[in-house]
Amino acid sequence: MSSPPEARVLPRSEHRLSRRDIDPDALKVLYRLHRNGHLAYLVGGGVRDLLLDRRPKDFDISTDATPEQILELFRNSRIIGRRFPIVHILFGRGKALEVSTFRSLRPEEEETSSVPSDQDSLEEEARLEAEADALMVEDENGSEAAASASVPSADELAIEDEAEEEPAAKTRRRGRRAGRRYDRGRHLLAFANGLQYGDPAQDAWRRDLTINGLFYDISDFSVIDYVGGLDDLEAEVIRSIGDPDLRFASDPVRMIRALRHAARTGFRIEDETWEAILKHREKLRDCSKARVLEEFYRDLRGGAALPSLELMKKSRVLGVLLRALDEFLPEWDRSAGETMPLPWRRLEVLDRWVAGGGEFNSSFLLSLLFAFPMLDALAAEEERSLPSRPDFGRQAYRFLKPLTSSLGVARRDTERLFLIGISQRRLSRCREGQPIPQFFANKPYFEDALQLFQLDAEARGLELPELKFGGGRRRRRRRRRRRR
Ligand code: ATP
Ligand code: MG
Repeated sequence: MSSPPEARVLPRSEHRLSRRDIDPDALKVLYRLHRNGHLAYLVGGGVRDLLLDRRPKDFDISTDATPEQILELFRNSRIIGRRFPIVHILFGRGKALEVSTFRSLRPEEEETSSVPSDQDSLEEEARLEAEADALMVEDENGSEAAASASVPSADELAIEDEAEEEPAAKTRRRGRRAGRRYDRGRHLLAFANGLQYGDPAQDAWRRDLTINGLFYDISDFSVIDYVGGLDDLEAEVIRSIGDPDLRFASDPVRMIRALRHAARTGFRIEDETWEAILKHREKLRDCSKARVLEEFYRDLRGGAALPSLELMKKSRVLGVLLRALDEFLPEWDRSAGETMPLPWRRLEVLDRWVAGGGEFNSSFLLSLLFAFPMLDALAAEEERSLPSRPDFGRQAYRFLKPLTSSLGVARRDTERLFLIGISQRRLSRCREGQPIPQFFANKPYFEDALQLFQLDAEARGLELPELKFGGGRRRRRRRRRRRR
């Protein structure tokens, strides 16, 4: 597939994308850019989902205005991202819209590079970089692991840092931070020195999948297609933009994205794209762990975890990400009418809960995959070490730590996953009528642990036992008094 010479433009009357379905704040941004003489397009997943009659998760905007010009037009905005600056426009209550200047295609990189470079990654990378900038956590082994969403906030980390700092260093740091707040991220432009912005065609062409490369033009409400995305939406096909061999070699994370979008839409993955995934899957090992993990979390919380992981298993991408995980999900051929094994049924329940509006944190999502194999390993260990009892905490942590380390999971998430996991033993005693001790119910991870217990019960088709609370606190108090 080679670059089309010009775009196919679908006028307003020939498509069903309606402004009524676009987020009002995104519309305001599009109009203001347009009124000020700039091209202003709704891009990516927003256009795809609206054309599919689905509600988009986010509304990203691309324009020919430079980041500086965008900052001038929107008071409540700041630049994020180093390699490629993107502007976040803030709307209160944590809502931010991403506006990026058209990016240029780098043909030399696309045509010649067979080295995984992560160079051509986009908004997601910029966001991760901005996060990682503020939140680098020292892993137990001393390696740096980029933090995921639930690590301490930047302010928390800064407070910890400051506690140990000399007063002069503290003042300098504060000054620098205040200066950065004031410059609204302009200092990041220095990192992008020499960066070439692009035109709409180049911006479309450097995207991942054809169905993700469509634009909605606010000036005349047309849909612009440089990459054949409209035909593929019509034919229900997932296809890499450009030569999939080069594009996946250039940024292997696109393979996970292709599988997820196939799972979410139910579309067929076009042959060349599928073959390229099989050919390049090993390259995922060389990618930034933070980016791969972020895409993996998006698979789990996106409402299509079951089909996403089925495709990851079928393409053997799952085994590349983590061999153990591949083993935790047994072989299962849906098309042969085989009964769905329990680990897959848990994912099915997760998807149902997400469809019902459920939102889940990273450690809960991981616990769904790792907690039960961990409990099985503990039970086997218990049997082996009879008549003495093994140290469950230590065994559980030993089981989990290598798995989460190789995925680059933040330490805080691993600890919470461990707590959610070992809580299942205690919760299972409810089945024998035992009450849940109050101190346990007060733990910050209790709700997640209980949800996992409920999810597992639903997957097994078991009735939930009646939960009785109480008892534990008094016992704990008595023990403490005795100690004094
Ligand atoms: P979702 O509905 O999950 O948000 P999305 O397609 O909008 O799906 P985003 O991660 O929000 O995914 O990315 C926005 C757009 O940026 C994509 O539609 C695609 O055009 C482009 N994009 C994202 N990641 C890449 C990548 N690794 N390589 C090329 N283009 C990408
Ligand atoms: Mg999106």
